[in-house]
Amino acid sequence: MPESALLRAQKELLCYGSTGVSVMEMSHRTPMFDEILQGTKQKLRDLLRIPEKYEILLIQGGATLQFASIPMNLIENGFADYAMTGNFSTKAAREAKKYGEVHIACDTAPTGHDRIPTQSELKISEGAKYFYYCSNNTAFGTEWNYVPETKSPIVCDMSSDILSRPIDVSKYGLIYAGAQKNMAPAGLTVVIIDRALAGKHLPITPEVMEYETLIKTDSLLNTPPCWCIYMLGLVLDWLKEQGGVEAMEVLKKERSAKVYGLLDDSKFYIPHAIPSGRSDMNITFRTPSEELDMEFVKDAAAQGLINLKGHKVAGGIRASLYNAMPMEGVDRLVSFMKDFEVKHRV
Ligand SMILES: *Cc1c(COP(=O)(O)O)cnc(C)c1O
Repeated sequence: MPESALLRAQKELLCYGSTGVSVMEMSHRTPMFDEILQGTKQKLRDLLRIPEKYEILLIQGGATLQFASIPMNLIENGFADYAMTGNFSTKAAREAKKYGEVHIACDTAPTGHDRIPTQSELKISEGAKYFYYCSNNTAFGTEWNYVPETKSPIVCDMSSDILSRPIDVSKYGLIYAGAQKNMAPAGLTVVIIDRALAGKHLPITPEVMEYETLIKTDSLLNTPPCWCIYMLGLVLDWLKEQGGVEAMEVLKKERSAKVYGLLDDSKFYIPHAIPSGRSDMNITFRTPSEELDMEFVKDAAAQGLINLKGHKVAGGIRASLYNAMPMEGVDRLVSFMKDFEVKHRV
C-alpha cells in the first residue's frame, strides 16, 4: 500500500468528510457510500481508459472465486481455451472443467513455468467461448509482454500486474483481479466486463456470481467490501498523482532492471524465468542450495526485508515489486543481495 493512502485512511478513519461516521460504519445503501463507490469506479475507468461498454464490478470472493464464475457465466454448453503458464491459470483450468470443456492452449509446466509461449506456440481453437490467460504469473515470475491474438473473447487474470502498465481494454472480453497485490487491502475483487458477455450463465450459477445480476445491481446485490472500495479510491488517487499507469510502467521497468541486472552479473544467483518471459512484478531466483535460500530469507528478514520466501509451489526466493514498492526498497534488496553473495560465494 502507498504510504500516502494509509495516512489518508488514518486521518479519515473516525469520520469520513463531514458525514460524522467512519466508512466502516456506513450502510452500503446510503448516498454517502454511493459517492465512494461511483467515485472509485470513475477513477479506475479514467486511469485504465475503460470504454463505456465495459462495466466495472467491485465484489467479494477473491480471484479464486472468479475461477468458477468465469466458466459458469461464459462457457455455456461449449468449451474454452486455457493458457496454462503458472499455478493460478492451472487452478483456473481445473475449476473450469467442472462446468465445461477445457482446451489447453499451452502448458509450460514441463519447463517449470519458466517462460511465456509465443503467439505461434498457442493452440487457438475454432469456436471457443473464450480464451483464458493470466498476464503475470505471481508464483513463478513470468509475465506476458503481448496480448494474444485469439478467435474468441479474451479473459485475463491480472491480479498481480493490473495498473502496472497501460492496457488496451478493448482487446479483452473480461479482465479481473484480486485487489490485494496491486490495488487495495484483501477482500475486494475487481471485474471489468464487456456487457455483451453478460446473461449467458448456466442455470446452476449462484445469483451472487451472475455477472448479469451484478451489473444490474451495480455490485450491490449484497454487501460489497465497502472499506476496500474506499481504500482502492485512495490508492487510485495516489496512482494518478504519480503520473498514472504510464509512470507505473516506467517505475516497474526501473525496479526490475536493478534486480535482474544483479542476477545476470552474478555467478551465484540463479534466475528462474528465461529472459524473454521475465516478470517485472515478481522476480524469482535461487542461490546454489536450498539451505542457502533459507538463510537468505532469514538474514533478509533480520534486516527488515520481509516476504522474500518463494511461493510454496515454486520454492526458492521471490522478490515481489508491486506498484507501491519504493525504489529505496529495491536498492536495499540489491545491496543485501550483493553482500550475501560475497559472504557465501565459494
Ligand atoms: C494471488 C493471485 C490469485 C489468488 O487470489 P485470491 O484473491 O487469493 O483468490 C489468483 N491469480 C493471481 C494471478 C494471483 O496473483
